[in-house]
Amino acid sequence: MIYLDANATTPPSAAAVQAVAETLQAVWANPSSPHGPGQQARRVLGQARASVAQVLGCRPHDVVFTSGATEANHLALRGLLAAAPAGRSRLLVSAVEHAGLLRLVQALAGEGWRVEHLPVRPDGTADLAALAAGLGPDVALVSFMAANNETGVCMPVAEIAALAHAAGALFHTDATQCVGKQAFQFADSGADAATLSAHKFHGPKGVGALLLRPGTPFRAPVPGSQERGRRGGTENLPGIAGMAAALQGLGDLAAEAARQTALRDALEAGLCAALPATHIWARGAQRLPGTSLLRVGALSADVVLHRLERLGVAAASGAACASSGSEPSHVLRAMGVPADEALGAVRLSLGRTTTADEVRAVLAGLPPLLQPLLAPEALSA
Ligand code: PMP
Repeated sequence: MIYLDANATTPPSAAAVQAVAETLQAVWANPSSPHGPGQQARRVLGQARASVAQVLGCRPHDVVFTSGATEANHLALRGLLAAAPAGRSRLLVSAVEHAGLLRLVQALAGEGWRVEHLPVRPDGTADLAALAAGLGPDVALVSFMAANNETGVCMPVAEIAALAHAAGALFHTDATQCVGKQAFQFADSGADAATLSAHKFHGPKGVGALLLRPGTPFRAPVPGSQERGRRGGTENLPGIAGMAAALQGLGDLAAEAARQTALRDALEAGLCAALPATHIWARGAQRLPGTSLLRVGALSADVVLHRLERLGVAAASGAACASSGSEPSHVLRAMGVPADEALGAVRLSLGRTTTADEVRAVLAGLPPLLQPLLAPEALSA
């Protein structure tokens, strides 16, 4: 199988698997228990926290362990809004956020928060002028992802943070797709809060973190004594140890990013040459190294994915959570892409396991399967 769905999830690294297994077996006591085994679990938790903080450029106390990115996004938005000063009742979120976060803000709107969706430009990049125009003294929070899971477009997080802060608003970034693929240092990001999820960088599923700058007004939506009162519930210590091991094992991000970019660019160039009707979205924008979102003429995503499957390639028609639906991607719609074109979207997301041989196999195998399906004019478009 050729796995080209690394933005949906990644295989756990050997180090992550080992850390999970060892911790699950040997460090099963409750880290909040005062006895010896509990204290040992507490030490392991502290070591994992320090290790995560070291890789992500923050302090150990900034790290709030969660069950993944969805929960971290909930903690961030609900926790920061609940502590917002009176008079700040608006929430600005980008229109291309992950579906889970958009559903959350829909719920927040129903609870009385005034939600505004920030547009993106046709190439999927952030529209900073629209953000600046939307800010005002009544904005409590801006939430803008660091990199988009469908297009791979990277957002200027530090600039967004500066604009939000100049208006007295807090800034949260969903960095789920960025961490592990590109350098992300919380201290340099300017964000007050950032979300990450271990399974996107070869850690286990069901574990992640919210990085939260200390002193940021926050009222825990899931109260409890753990995580310094910021997230209740016994910590998932095996998962947390696995996440720390995965982060430590990432190594030289720049070298891996350059490798994946070269493979992705070769894949895109080869597909466009063999199938001139191929359209690649956000191709000119700064993107995550391995992400390619494309359509082939007017072929529907289902048709292309079916042929990919025949070749033994696992890919997606956009976000994994939305790929079973027949709705056009909200990300492409926000970029102004017509619904019929958006329904052709196929996401190829390369990762650390992707090889040059695999890219060659896709380039050799896919065009002959798709060419007969394309109208003659599309072949030469
Ligand atoms: N945010 C983004 C940008 C994502 O890509 C994902 C995963 N598809 C999530 C949030 C949700 O992550 P999790 O599976 O850890 O809840």
